[in-house]
Amino acid sequence: MCGIVGYIGYRNVSNFLLEGLHRLEYRGYDSAGIAVANGADITIRKKAGRVQELSSLVDECPVEGTVGVGHTRWATHGEPSDANSHPHSGGNGEIVLVHNGVIENYSALRSQLQQLGYTFQSETDSEVVAHLLAHSLFEQVKLGCEPSETDTCLKAVEVALKKLKGAYGIAVLFRDCPGVLIAARNGSPLVLGIGDGEYFIASDASPLVGYTDEVVYLADHEIAILTETGMDLLHRDSGRQTPSIQVLDQVSTDIELGDFEHFMLKEIHEQPTTIENAMRGRLDFDAATAIFGGLNMTLQQLRTVDRIVLTACGTSWHAALVGEYLIEEFARIPVEVEYASELRYRNPPMSDRTMVFAITQSGETADTLAALRECKRKGHSTLALCNVVGSTIAREADGGVYLHAGPEIGVASTKAFTSQVTVLTLLALYFGRMRHMSYQAGSSIIRKLKEIPEKVEQTLNCDAAVKEIAQKYYGMNNFLYLGRLHNFPVALEGALKLKEISYVHAEGYPAAEMKHGPLALIDEQTPSLFVVPKCGIYPKVISNLEEVKARGGPVIAIACEGDDRVAELADDVIYVPDVDECLQPLVTSVPLQLLAYHIALLRNCNVDRPRNLAKSVTVE
Ligand code: GLU
Repeated sequence: MCGIVGYIGYRNVSNFLLEGLHRLEYRGYDSAGIAVANGADITIRKKAGRVQELSSLVDECPVEGTVGVGHTRWATHGEPSDANSHPHSGGNGEIVLVHNGVIENYSALRSQLQQLGYTFQSETDSEVVAHLLAHSLFEQVKLGCEPSETDTCLKAVEVALKKLKGAYGIAVLFRDCPGVLIAARNGSPLVLGIGDGEYFIASDASPLVGYTDEVVYLADHEIAILTETGMDLLHRDSGRQTPSIQVLDQVSTDIELGDFEHFMLKEIHEQPTTIENAMRGRLDFDAATAIFGGLNMTLQQLRTVDRIVLTACGTSWHAALVGEYLIEEFARIPVEVEYASELRYRNPPMSDRTMVFAITQSGETADTLAALRECKRKGHSTLALCNVVGSTIAREADGGVYLHAGPEIGVASTKAFTSQVTVLTLLALYFGRMRHMSYQAGSSIIRKLKEIPEKVEQTLNCDAAVKEIAQKYYGMNNFLYLGRLHNFPVALEGALKLKEISYVHAEGYPAAEMKHGPLALIDEQTPSLFVVPKCGIYPKVISNLEEVKARGGPVIAIACEGDDRVAELADDVIYVPDVDECLQPLVTSVPLQLLAYHIALLRNCNVDRPRNLAKSVTVE
């Protein structure tokens, strides 16, 4: 959460900062601000609200300079107001900083700094860091160091960081040392971009696209010292580091809307391609199995795994549930799906042969990272399933699989979900073929998987029908989403999409659970959305549907093309192509994404920037 940008070089910096903040806005949009240094003058422009409002402010009152930092905020401490917006100044303006994360000991530090005479302008934990840095700089100067020296600034940062507890990604300007920009991280992501006579900082790589394709991912406890002429990297414990420069392979169309009105719609429509990409190079037709290059475990080690823990949050947790059903079905390995936020503190018994899989789109989700670290510390093999290349979780896990879905910018996850499900299906196949699954069964799954991108393409044709249904129901305030077996996680995910972007209350349930309580909610104002494609227990789901109908509740059904029985029973039907039962989530989730999208539009909600939320949840 929250997006940071920084620049030092020869360009007039405000354009890069504002454009970068626009690209990072999915990470937080409570307020935005920039600080630009011109010699010893640091000018701050900041404002509650969207980056667009900051851009208008900067248009009215331009700022010039070649060094600067910027921030788009997802508030954790203090309301979204002008005063709480970043950048924050420390001391008498000697320090200006932007911060992503949460400082857990901010309250004690704030009292200490107030006693020392520092005056606070905001309620944020971040301003504590600014004053702490200013104080640390003051102490260095008292010892005889020159405030205009880079080494003095660095020492001040090193000393101050030791006092912080919690997560931070910071970028700092120094009034008396205008030719230096220092960035540091612990728990919040930062990427450095290397140009020709210029350096960039950003929370993720998207602001760097079009500026440079050479990047360095900062690790925890690393400090980057950037000047116009060079970059130094220091680690708290191991000192000077040789930067590991990686090539960025994003292109600008990945982060542009193109012909679509919203990123969410664009990403829904990308799914035939992103599912294909998740499978690319991973299907072994001859051996009727999947191929993974990055698990970093031998076949012998993989064979000894007797339990898998899938840990995730939100949409990724729903994908994990699909994974559980498939891995248990194909490979007969017991699987637990754990909320990462619970797992990190729960301490469940786990055998030596338990493998832990962390699933996260961004690879930065704070709870998932903490759960992964806890399991790794205990000695378990840890693998990651994530989308963002070079992300913290991707780097810290022992091995893993990338989704290759391209940047997901809409806050409500869509294409990442179907890509996660695709990769989990491949993993289930892989583990299955190492154990009990026959060649014929493996071959049949591969053949059917291959057809999925085309089936999803066909599914997208339901858009017009979904739009009409949205028109009919968008005024209703409670929805139930119901499905069974593979489509139960789909029901949960459909309900989450509606909650996230339409602010409509929706509950996902296994359809047969209705009679154990939720049936009491049914009335003519509470539509039930049944995910009821053809499957082994189709008649059972139809009975559940009839139970709801009998109590006067409207029913919207997701059913297979040509299903006359459902057409007779349901008030409205959205048809999807018939695919193998185990692959249905890849198809049935699509109309639910579209339904949430259209209802949100009709309710005048901001589809890509839903209230109170942000993507890449880097706080606990
Ligand atoms: N904790 C800081 C604040 O509330 C930073 C939040 C963020 O990461 O955007 O301002």
